[in-house]
Amino acid sequence: MKIVVDQKKCRAAGACVVACPEDAIFISDGVAKIDESRCDLDGICIPACPHGAIRLSETD
Ligand code: SF4
Repeated sequence: MKIVVDQKKCRAAGACVVACPEDAIFISDGVAKIDESRCDLDGICIPACPHGAIRLSETD
């Protein structure tokens, strides 16, 4: 599993960056990106996104 950011929905609002307790999210090239080495899959960032751009993928 991993956290996935839909790059078409992401507006780089930064709410996920603030919400992530692991400092695993950063903004690069105008979209949020996940540092998978830091992410513990807690899912806190999913409801934090005002654009619904973050989801947990069970297939990736
Ligand atoms: S799932 Fe948790 S640790 Fe991973 S990016 Fe989202 S808030 Fe951060």
